[in-house]
Parts: sequence; C-alpha cells; structure tokens
Amino acid sequence: MKQKKLLYTGKAKSVYRTDAKGTLIVEFRDDITAFDGGKKDTLKNKGSYNAGVSAFFFSYLEKNGVKTHFLEMLDENRMAVRELSMIPLEVIVRNFAAGSIVRNYPFVEGSPLKPPVIVIDYKDDSRHDPMLNDELIVALKLATPTELKKIKTIALKINTLLVGLLAKEGITLVDFKLEFGRQNKTIYLGDEISMDSMRLWDKKTGESLDKDVYRFNKGDVMATYNRVAARITRAPKTASAGKKAKSSKKPEKRTR
Ligand code: 5GP
Repeated sequence: MKQKKLLYTGKAKSVYRTDAKGTLIVEFRDDITAFDGGKKDTLKNKGSYNAGVSAFFFSYLEKNGVKTHFLEMLDENRMAVRELSMIPLEVIVRNFAAGSIVRNYPFVEGSPLKPPVIVIDYKDDSRHDPMLNDELIVALKLATPTELKKIKTIALKINTLLVGLLAKEGITLVDFKLEFGRQNKTIYLGDEISMDSMRLWDKKTGESLDKDVYRFNKGDVMATYNRVAARITRAPKTASAGKKAKSSKKPEKRTR
C-alpha cells in the first residue's frame, strides 16, 4: 500500500490517503501536548508506544465483537485504518473520579463511579471541547438518538473489556476517551486508545501510568510510556471480557 497525500494533521497524529480505496494511514508522531496545546514537546519513541498499545487494544476489541477502524500495523508508527466519517464527539467513560470532573464537580479524587459515568464533549478545540448532553447532540445533528444509544452501549462494552484486561496487569482504568465514526450506517471505533487518551493508575502504588505524568511533571514520561506499553501488550488477549479470571495454579499463557 502506498502512502499518498496528507489529509489531516492533529496534535499527535497525521492522517494520509493511500492508493487503496477506503483505506487511510494514521501516523502516530512523537509529539505530545496538553492543556489545549498550551504545553508541547517531542519525545522520541512516544508515537511507537501509543501506536503499539492502540493496535493491541483495537485487535483485542475486534476479537470481542467491537467494530474498529484498525486494519494492520505498517511499521512501528503507522497503521492502516478503514476510512470513516468521524463524529466530532469525545466519548469519555469514567470508572473513578479524576481530572476535569473533580475540578468541575464535588467529587473526591479516586472515588469509584458505579455504574461508570459517560461524559460526552464536543470535539472543538476553538471552543475548548465543551460538555454536551443528549439533547444538544441531537439538536446539533451530531448523531441521531439511535446512534447515540449505540455509541453509549459500545463505549460501556469497551469499558468492561478494557477494565478486565488491564486488571490482569495490575492496572486500574480510571477513565478514557473514545472517538467514533461512520461508514455507511455502521458505527466504528476510530482514533486511538493509548496512554494519551486514558488515565491509568497502578493498582498497588496508585502511580500514574499515562499522560498525567506529562501534564503534571510527575516523572520521566517516556520511561513510564515504555513500561506501561510493555505491561499492556503482554496482557493475555484471549481473556474473555468482564469475566472474573478462574483461579488456577498455572501461570496464564502470554501471547507476547
Ligand atoms: P478529563 O476530562 O479528566 O480531562 O479527561 C478524561 C479522560 O479523557 C482522560 O483519560 C483524558 O486523557 C481523556 N481525554 C479528554 N479529552 C481528551 C483529548 O482532547 N484528547 C485526548 N487524547 N484525550 C482526552
């Protein structure tokens, strides 16, 4: 597959056309930003860690019945994806209170949210991604009520799958952001799921294992991304979603 013209440059990824109809290439660059682009850096290898983790999650989700845009990895930083018409929503699933909901509402950081809370923001940097509600989403014609229901159902399924997968590696999935797109009438998961778009805490130590290390200068960002990417991608992919692991004396089979 040949990479063709640059279609779009985001804060950390670039999207290219290809010579294959309906297939795009997403390149995960080494750029990292926070606070609406107010803090910016380029960190060597960052793109490959996020690409690897995203590819791992996308394949895991596909195996468990979630439709994603992921087709294949082309090299360490570039993945071939299905071309989607992206829906400008940031669908955030929260299992524990952290980040903006602690700043904006009277939640105590780290308190469990049961059932998980879905927050949907309007993806528009110029407006600082304001929070939406279902009525606004429909009034703005961003999604139909049926699509919205479907998106929420998929987001919660992804949450159950990822919470279970990460727990096996001693990682708490605090919250994460998803983006969806359409191909014809089918909704697919797009964008990425990586350390840039999740909040992950070590179950034992409570240490941040995600972009909060960069946002709040909590330590060596690339050392953290390197370690967490290795931990995540060795999680057994065959584990079935949401089910409690059966107790067994045998060590679990590692896929990598
Ligand atoms: P918060 O609303 O607390 O800032 O973010 C909640 C979760 O969604 C965090 O895991 C955060 O990384 C992710 N998130 C929210 N907005 C964005 C965004 O614009 N880009 C990315 N990559 N992740 C986001």
